[in-house]
Amino acid sequence: MQSKAIYILTLSLAVLITACSPKDPIEQKVDQLLKQMTLDEKIGQMRQLEGGMMSDDLAGQIRAGQVGSLLNCANPQDVNYYQRIAVEDSRLGIPLLMGRDVIHGFKTIYPIPIGQAATWNPDLITLASRQTAMEATQVGIRWTFSPMVDVARDARWGRLAEGYGEDTYLTSVMGAATVRGYQGDSLNDPTAMAACVKHFAAYGASESGRDYNTTWIPEIMLRDVYLPPFKACLDAGAQTVMCSFNDINGLPSTANSHLNIDILRNEWGFDGLLVSDWGSSSDLVPHGLCADKKEACMRSFKAGLELEMEGHTWDYLKEWMAEGKITEKDIDDCVRDILRVKFRLGLFDHPYSADTTLFYQSEALQLAQRTVEESAILLKNDGVLPLDTSKCRTILITGPLADAPKEQLGTWIFDGEPEHSITPLAAFRNMSGADIVFEPCLNYSRDTSHAMFAKTIAAARKADVILYFAGEEAILSGEARCRADINLPGAQSLLMAELAKTGKPIVLVVMAGRPLTIGKELNLANAVLYSFHAGTMTGPGLYNVMTGIVNPSGKLPMTMPKMVGQVPIYYNRHNTGRPATTPMLIDNIPVGCPQFSIGQSSYHLEVGDQPLFPFGYGLSYTTFEYSAVELHRIDSENFVASCTVTNTGERDGQEIVQLYTHQKSGDLVRPIKELKGFTKVFIPKGESRVVEIPFTASQLGYWHQSFDQHDSHVWFATDDVDYELWLAPNSNVQTAPVSFRLHN
Ligand code: BGC
Repeated sequence: MQSKAIYILTLSLAVLITACSPKDPIEQKVDQLLKQMTLDEKIGQMRQLEGGMMSDDLAGQIRAGQVGSLLNCANPQDVNYYQRIAVEDSRLGIPLLMGRDVIHGFKTIYPIPIGQAATWNPDLITLASRQTAMEATQVGIRWTFSPMVDVARDARWGRLAEGYGEDTYLTSVMGAATVRGYQGDSLNDPTAMAACVKHFAAYGASESGRDYNTTWIPEIMLRDVYLPPFKACLDAGAQTVMCSFNDINGLPSTANSHLNIDILRNEWGFDGLLVSDWGSSSDLVPHGLCADKKEACMRSFKAGLELEMEGHTWDYLKEWMAEGKITEKDIDDCVRDILRVKFRLGLFDHPYSADTTLFYQSEALQLAQRTVEESAILLKNDGVLPLDTSKCRTILITGPLADAPKEQLGTWIFDGEPEHSITPLAAFRNMSGADIVFEPCLNYSRDTSHAMFAKTIAAARKADVILYFAGEEAILSGEARCRADINLPGAQSLLMAELAKTGKPIVLVVMAGRPLTIGKELNLANAVLYSFHAGTMTGPGLYNVMTGIVNPSGKLPMTMPKMVGQVPIYYNRHNTGRPATTPMLIDNIPVGCPQFSIGQSSYHLEVGDQPLFPFGYGLSYTTFEYSAVELHRIDSENFVASCTVTNTGERDGQEIVQLYTHQKSGDLVRPIKELKGFTKVFIPKGESRVVEIPFTASQLGYWHQSFDQHDSHVWFATDDVDYELWLAPNSNVQTAPVSFRLHN
């Protein structure tokens, strides 16, 4: 009850404080400008158009003040051309806001976001996204449609590549780190790029992992699982938010006033701009929500949409105004949010792109390489890694991803240039003294041809070690690239089986846009390194990890299923009333046995209840030992969990120590475990470090719901019950927990 009261009080205070102060100079400028604007100019500010092609028509619209923002105009000459028209030729000279999908690098491409999450290193990701902003802003892009913080629990969904995985906390931390990097210390610095947190909301829950699909999400789950990363990014200062394509419980997000007004504006006090996704307002017609675009205009507008990205439903705003359904004051409120962002970015003072462009600077390339190194996840190793280059005189490099400069960049690389990619093959040729034999065997990941098998196997027989670079091409993940089968595509599994028959040691490196079901290949390989598409510096980064120059430290940001039928599968599930005990698998079931004779618990007959690898999993070339965890109570809100971690192996290494909690009972069923904190610590061989991970009582709170049919409200609170916590190297290891209560 007490927590509920505090929550409501904090909320009211937040709303009060964020009601913009009239003395704020930016608010004054916004008001002054608004007073001078005609209705057409106001509506113009609410329109974002595609600016990728030079067009007289577009130039004319900008000159007439009918456009507020362009997307995909990414050439500095074009940016300046259109911007000059807006600033010098339009009546009020309001600069355009230039937006672009700069998702994991502009020219220098970093690992895809799911790979960045595998570093569990938010400081590194802030540095990487700062470099990205430095590159992109040079051409005049001051707004990126990133980060995507859609929690995703389904490996079929292609867009999980763009996010930070299955966990709400990890996604929140990595999303906020990305925002800080893009926006820098000061928004009006010309190298600051406004972040756009997307897709609001719960897009990652699309049914069957099929893009744009329906979601059904109870309010408490929405608030516990899907919304916190958005709030974390706004707390980090994100200036803009993008609506998602999906419908939630029958209502598409673009028309969802509960999300876009009640929560985003009224609860969270967001004062930046809300943009549609591409045509997501017009999409209300095919969704089946609206009869036509005119109705879509009204539904989106009333639900809080401000800037329309293509789609053209705002063409009907004036008709609704004429009918008295929308007032000019309503329009002013939208335009105010848009102008506020433009003023904050300092666009009125420096609207143009730089004269010179410096890409691929050594700092960016080094950061990109470090991110590759820290994102690589070692899943298995019988000792073949790190490669002993004195013994491996002849190395066979094979597989469709070994020398695929474009594919290694991953999805969403509008500005990436494959000619700058350094592939694993190039890195091994340049950096190792070994005799490198290259047989791609398969030309691309879906290739089913066996034509090059014989030659490849012959080469394998002569090699000391086989490095097999398998995975997915970039086009198989990302938007609208969902898969119903998440095995290695094409003849890659067959190639693995044939290579294994040679008896030579095999290092399998998987380069993909999602967790793949690689159980069969795992059994045949001596070592497996998982690298989500890792960008420009993939080759040198993986080389350093494979040869031991760098000790791998990446850990999985998503559970890896054994079989696709297990998804959605995630570590923080509920226990069920019948958790799996000793699952009897399909091949062991006696023929004709009575119905309940093999038990009644929760698992799949083919694979049991466990994944191939759990969330948070990843090996190192060294080993770490954890001492017993201790809990320190600072005050009623602040706690610290600590333990001593010792590097017991022969190499220096980094360990990602994870804090998990479990609430033993409560008003509602709680997950079997939840990540509440983590830290990445470097420990020289033979040494120990005391690891301290702070957390708060509020982090143990969750959204409750009254199931009274006359009053089904929700509220945030903690329960006064027993909790336990532990520190562990991954979500499947449960060290002896400490039990505690929030109030002594
Ligand atoms: C995607 C967004 C993206 C936008 C602009 C849409 O199709 O869903 O994530 O930012 O296009 O390119």
